[in-house]
Amino acid sequence: MKIYDILILGGGASALMCASHLEKKYNVAIVDNNSKLASKVKISGGGKCNITNVFVSSENFDGEKQLVENALDTFSRDDLLDFLELNGVDPVVRKERYYFCKKSSDELIDVLKKHSKYVKLHLETTIKDVTKTSNSFEVKTSQGILRAKKVVVATGGKSYKTLGASDIGLDIAKSFHIDYQEFSPALVGLTVQKEQFWMKELSGLSCYVHIKVEDKTLKEEMLFTHKGISGPAVLSASLYWKKGNISVDFLPNHNIFSLIKGSKKLLSSVIPLPKRLSKALLDAIDVRDIECKKIDHEMRSKLESIHDYIFAPAGNFGFTKAEVSRGGILADELEYKTLESKKVKGLHFIGEVVDVTGELGGYNFQWAFSSAVVCANALNKSF
Ligand SMILES: Cc1cc2nc3c(=O)[nH]c(=O)nc-3n(C[C@H](O)[C@H](O)[C@H](O)COP(=O)(O)OP(=O)(O)OC[C@H]3O[C@@H](n4cnc5c(N)ncnc54)[C@H](O)[C@@H]3O)c2cc1C
Repeated sequence: MKIYDILILGGGASALMCASHLEKKYNVAIVDNNSKLASKVKISGGGKCNITNVFVSSENFDGEKQLVENALDTFSRDDLLDFLELNGVDPVVRKERYYFCKKSSDELIDVLKKHSKYVKLHLETTIKDVTKTSNSFEVKTSQGILRAKKVVVATGGKSYKTLGASDIGLDIAKSFHIDYQEFSPALVGLTVQKEQFWMKELSGLSCYVHIKVEDKTLKEEMLFTHKGISGPAVLSASLYWKKGNISVDFLPNHNIFSLIKGSKKLLSSVIPLPKRLSKALLDAIDVRDIECKKIDHEMRSKLESIHDYIFAPAGNFGFTKAEVSRGGILADELEYKTLESKKVKGLHFIGEVVDVTGELGGYNFQWAFSSAVVCANALNKSF
């Protein structure tokens, strides 16, 4: 029976970047349960794929710092942009931070597919489990058994099951006694407790905020929805929020006391937020919407919480809405320079299945691509 040199499990972002960087002399195959490659890349960033970010550092990731830094040093944002440019893809920068494909994610997918042409594809094939014999791996799939000298697990996280996502990567780790953190939804909207139901009434409104969670401050738009809160600032905050309080500054670019100073107008008229939000916010912090000059000492101290509105979210919108899964194979289990399992030689883990998760803004593709190149470089030297 045929034994591949390398079998890549999953046919998403990290798998294709890994295949693209392997020397073409190897016998490589990709196994994926979808009928097409890169299904998440296709729909990402509203179909235009937020590939990476102008500002990239290990600070933008929830994960082991050294592991992330090693990957970013090996294949940085500039390396990624150079690779794309060499292949005729010239991403645009939006909001001075986010690199997106100009027209569609296909620009990126086509490059990855072009470089992976030499790879044998096993599509519409579900991976069931992986075992190791004395000199090869056996991968049991819905279409039979595949064998390989080395295996790269690139099966991603658990969110968006409709696109083929599963936690098979963790099952594989478990069967080899490799430790992992269970997946949980991240880059996801947050639900609110009864005291913040006023936010749900504002569904559709958004505003620029600073959200403090743990030791991070996320600076972006927040969107009110009928389920709770969402938008870029909240999605990134969800990466660091496990439970307990978060704090929102609703006027990060202003000082509420400078705004009201000497004004004869109503409070809600001087607060530079949508009127409905200003009124609801004043209500929430127990301040009456009166003329600014009539504000007394007690009201002033309550008004301060416009810059520091503290509350505990109830939970999140779940895996069906989460852009990524937090958790995965623990950093301790992997050789940082190869992403090979310390316990099982020849078994590598890359992309979202590893316990590294990026903030919103192209960081998860950057991690998928950087980790993929670390692994490909190591495999190129290993035969
Ligand atoms: C709606 C949405 C929008 C996003 N937008 C962005 C964005 O703009 N920028 C950004 O940086 N990140 C974005 N992400 C996150 C990004 O898509 C992922 O982090 C990235 O794709 C991870 O790459 P990966 O190769 O690890 O996993 P994936 O790309 O998810 O690939 C894993 C592959 O494995 C396959 N697979 C899983 N289980 C099995 C099994 N049992 N058998 C066979 N095949 C299996 C899956 O079908 C999938 O094709 C977005 C995610 C979503 C859901």
